[in-house]
Amino acid sequence: MHTPLCRHAVGEPTDYAAQAVKLGFTEIGFSDHNPMIRDDYDDWHMRQDELDEYVEKVRKAQKDHPGLTIKLALEVDYLPGHEPWIRDLAARHPWDYFIGSVHYVSDAWDLDNPKKISEWKKRDPLEVWTAYFERLTRAAESGLFEIIGHADLPKKFCFYPQTDCTPLFDRFLAAARQHDVAIEINTAGLRKDCKEMYPSRQIVQMAAQRGVALTFASDAHAPGEVGMNFAEAVELARSAGYTHRRRFTQRKYDLLKL
Ligand SMILES: [Zn+2]
Ligand SMILES: [Zn+2]
Repeated sequence: MHTPLCRHAVGEPTDYAAQAVKLGFTEIGFSDHNPMIRDDYDDWHMRQDELDEYVEKVRKAQKDHPGLTIKLALEVDYLPGHEPWIRDLAARHPWDYFIGSVHYVSDAWDLDNPKKISEWKKRDPLEVWTAYFERLTRAAESGLFEIIGHADLPKKFCFYPQTDCTPLFDRFLAAARQHDVAIEINTAGLRKDCKEMYPSRQIVQMAAQRGVALTFASDAHAPGEVGMNFAEAVELARSAGYTHRRRFTQRKYDLLKL
């Protein structure tokens, strides 16, 4: 879940926590968009000098809601070459987990950015999905992340390849299994043009068959989105064959029954 520091989410962490308590959750986690390698990289990540403020906001939510466990995490953009920067961020605070996400398929194009939809129209969707899943596979292999975020993000605006993408999914999931990285079922996709969770039922089923671990995310960018559609997300996981999910504390996991 996010905070206003990324400039496209609303509500303080303590407000998200209040909503979680209201809904009966016993544990939540914040994973706002990481500071990038340069502050002028784009306009939708927290700045480098805001990282401590972010941690303080999460600490305040923890103090205000002592009955709720609140994890401190980041959603970290994976770009090749940024690995030393990501390790630097990892050393700065006692994080519970890093979600590794690919939004950028090149240094300049974040494929889910609504301001850049025109970029999709210049390319064959298969070319974009291939570049995306190659990066996602490298993210899973990098050893930098506990969880890989919204695994089929390129579907957001419904630019689907004509060709079957199963081999791309397969290579990514094999890397996730081999490097013991979880994927998440992220309900935010239901709130986008694609109108389905990330990732698709096909990918969730393939992941279950291959023994890839699982977490759940609402990817809330507003307090009202906390835990949205979780019952359906759990149903999807169960129907794909999942019996457990992972929970991370200080970058180690335990297993909880679904
Ligand atoms: Zn966001
Ligand atoms: Zn994301």
